[in-house]
Amino acid sequence: MSLHSLGQTDLNIQVEPYISAEEILQINQELAQTITQHYASSKAPLIVVGLLRGSFIFMADLVRHIKLPLITDFMTVSSYGNQQRSSGNVKIVMDLDETIDGCDVLLVEDIVDTGNTLACVVNLLQARNPHSIKVVSLLDKPSRREVKVVVDFCGRQIEDQFVVGYGLDFAQKFRNLPYIGLYTGSEG
Ligand code: 5GP
Repeated sequence: MSLHSLGQTDLNIQVEPYISAEEILQINQELAQTITQHYASSKAPLIVVGLLRGSFIFMADLVRHIKLPLITDFMTVSSYGNQQRSSGNVKIVMDLDETIDGCDVLLVEDIVDTGNTLACVVNLLQARNPHSIKVVSLLDKPSRREVKVVVDFCGRQIEDQFVVGYGLDFAQKFRNLPYIGLYTGSEG
């Protein structure tokens, strides 16, 4: 596959296409079908919680394929900043608006790497007495795991590579790419 340059202001930044928009659509449809079946018989209200900012595009697409009544909410937790590794020190920057007491909570992650973010958020939400907490992540890098976390619904496992696009950033850029690419750095 050829390398793509990314417009006027990023001409020297290279991203190699990795997971196409068509593959992402298929992953989303399969995940949503599994999720729909999983919660179909539950009597608890379903709340889908996106971890910002990386999950916003994935969550927007995913919920449109889930064939159940649900509500949505978002949390912001500190993550990578401009660096390519997790600090392991995760802070809640913006909390939920909704109460989750008695609800089925489906946490939506873009990618699980060390697991620090997810472990922290699950612990925090568990203390609020939900009926259940499950995790859906578009991508998972199991080889990088530092803490044990369960990804209940996983779109695709990938190797230890830094990916951008479809909500995932490098220094806040590239989130708007409609596909997922391997960030290969600057040229020249
Ligand atoms: P963890 O706490 O599991 O190490 O990190 C999870 C968060 O780190 C993700 O939600 C995402 O924001 C960021 N992250 C981890 N791996 C990647 C990657 O390959 N690309 C991008 N853009 N972000 C990543």
